[in-house]
Formats: sequence, structure tokens, C-alpha cells
Amino acid sequence: MNYRRLGRSGLQVSELSLGSWVTFKNQLSVEAAAETMQCAYDAGINFFDNAEVYARGESERIMGEALRMLDWRRGSYVVSTKFFWGLNDGPNEKNCLNRKRLLDGIDQSLERFGLDYVDLIFCHRADPETPIEETVWAMSDIVESGAATYWGTSEWSAAEIKEAFEVAERYNLRKPVMEQPQYNLFHRQRFEEEYAPTFEEYGMGTTVWSPLASGILTGKYADGIPEGSRMTVPGMEWLRDALTEDKIEATKRLALVANDFGCSVGQLALAWCLKKQNVSTVILGASNLDQLKENLAASEIAEKLDDAWIAKIELATSAASDMS
Ligand code: NDP
Repeated sequence: MNYRRLGRSGLQVSELSLGSWVTFKNQLSVEAAAETMQCAYDAGINFFDNAEVYARGESERIMGEALRMLDWRRGSYVVSTKFFWGLNDGPNEKNCLNRKRLLDGIDQSLERFGLDYVDLIFCHRADPETPIEETVWAMSDIVESGAATYWGTSEWSAAEIKEAFEVAERYNLRKPVMEQPQYNLFHRQRFEEEYAPTFEEYGMGTTVWSPLASGILTGKYADGIPEGSRMTVPGMEWLRDALTEDKIEATKRLALVANDFGCSVGQLALAWCLKKQNVSTVILGASNLDQLKENLAASEIAEKLDDAWIAKIELATSAASDMS
């Protein structure tokens, strides 16, 4: 496993990491989650991604319980959570990043995890109703308190990130260290264009999500929706809106490239992510051990991908990409 600095911070994260969205609770029990995490850890993964809203808090509970079962040294892994949507309906309990929501959010998350601190905390979306100054101040205070080690954003616009940096600079607060954006062969524009000056100027690290576009980039949806796949998980049916003909056709073309290269379609899509500039870690999702083992091989494949292969991959998928 290769390790990369999370932007300009000193923290090293494995270039592949493991996330729990959809899988923990819906598809993986505590025992299965622990087995998956151990397999990832044995392969060198040191970053495990989570959020308060995943399975309505159950994902944090499961990860916390798995960590107690696994009994790894606390210094050997990095764990995250994210705040925004909340779990309750009160005016300060959902869809916001005010000081009260964030301070309550970290307390509740630590309790569910059963941890003294988490490493990375993210503002899961931006909150245009709360002054950015208030949000930056609260995130900085959480880091100062020791309840979290670094803070960052997820899916903020480049303009919002810039404002957050300026506020932190002005008041000598902790600056955001990382952004968590969606990044895959279909969804490239924000990462490669909108964020490019942000990466250059502020040196943010990135923990990129849905590198397989929720599984579409494995090619598994080429002939319909397979039983047991994410798009059949109750509550996840909305993901089917993303399953468009142009994407299915693109994965079929990508399958030909993967066949020439000698790997699976998903491995090629993950390896492509690993090769792209400004990616600190690619967060894997896996609903079983076989998927995880297959995906872990992406690191080795990335080492063999040269510019000519990257060009073939991008050509195969360009008609379904937001860069076209
Ligand atoms: P992917 O796009 O890689 O999708 C993962 C899913 O694809 C798996 O759960 C599985 O679903 C399917 N899959 C993966 N590998 C294989 C394989 N080898 N063969 C067949 N099917 C496979 O990643 P996620 O969408 O899960 O995102 C990764 C992480 O990013 C999340 O866990 C979460 O931590 C984070 N995230 C953050 C967001 C944010 O807003 N900040 C939003 C979304 C995710 P199945 O078997 O059910 O079909």
C-alpha cells in the first residue's frame, strides 16, 4: 500500500481507504464489517470513512463496535465522521452547520463510536444560512478541543472553500485540510476544473467518494439491476436515476479496455482515480470481502497505467462524462 500526505498536512493516509455508506448495517453486520475492516487493514488501509447520517447513526455504532473487537492501536488508524443532515428534526438539529449543531454533532458521534476522538471531521455539505465564520470557528474549536484532529469540507463550492480559508486566516483559526468530493470517470468537472485553483492555492487534500459511481463502473449493471446490488437496497432506489444508457454503453467500452489490459472494469476505474492529480485517497465501498479483495488490487494496476492507457480509459468513457 502506498501512503500519501493529506494535502499539505503531515497526516499520511493510505491511497485506498474504506467507507461505510450503504454497506454497514444495510448489507454488513458488525461481524462482517469487522472482517471487512480487518481485510482492509491487513492490506495496509489506515483510513476508515464514516458519517453521522449513515444508517442513521448505526454505521458509527457498528464501526465503533468493530474497532473494539479488532483492538488495533489507536495510533494506527484514521477514522472520520461528517455533520450536516443530523438525525433529528428540530430547527438546530438538521440541515445546518451552526455552532450548536456541530458541537452537539461531535459529542453524539463520539458517543456512538465509543472513541475519545475522531481524526477527520467534515462539514458534509455547505450551509448557506449560517455565516461561514461561525462554521469555521466551531470546526476549529472542535479540533482545538482534541475531539478531532483535522477538519474539512465535503462538496463545498470552490468559492465557499476560499471563504473558509480567508476566515481561518483572518482569525488565526484551524484551516480546512481536506475536501471530500465525488470523483469518478463520469463525474470529473468539479474535481478537475472547479477545484484546480483551490488545490493549487490552499493545498487541500482529498478523500474522493464513489470512485465506481456506486458500482456502475464495475459493469455489473450492463444487463439490468442484479439482485442484492446497491440499487436494490431499500431506500437506495433513487440511485437508479444515475443508471443512464450513455453510462451503460461507456462501461461496455471500458470493459474492452480492461480486457486488453488484463484486469476487471472496476479495477481499471479505481486505478484511473489513483493516477489522477490531487487525489490523496480513494474511498472504496464493498458489500462483501470478494469485492474488497478485487478492489485492493487497483493499487498495483495503477502502477502499470501509463498516459496511453489513461487516454484509452478517458476516451472509452468520455461520452458519459461531465467533461465532454
Ligand atoms: P463506489 O462507487 O466504489 O461503490 C461501492 C459499491 O459498488 C459497493 O458497495 C458495491 O455495491 C459495488 N462494488 C464495489 N466493488 C465491486 C466489485 N468489485 N464488484 C461488484 N460490485 C462492486 O463507492 P461508494 O459509493 O460506496 O463510496 C465510497 C465511500 O465514500 C462511502 O462508503 C462513503 O464513506 C463515502 N461517500 C461520501 C459521500 C459524501 O457526500 N461525502 C457520498 C457517498 C459516499 P453492491 O454490492 O451493493 O452493488
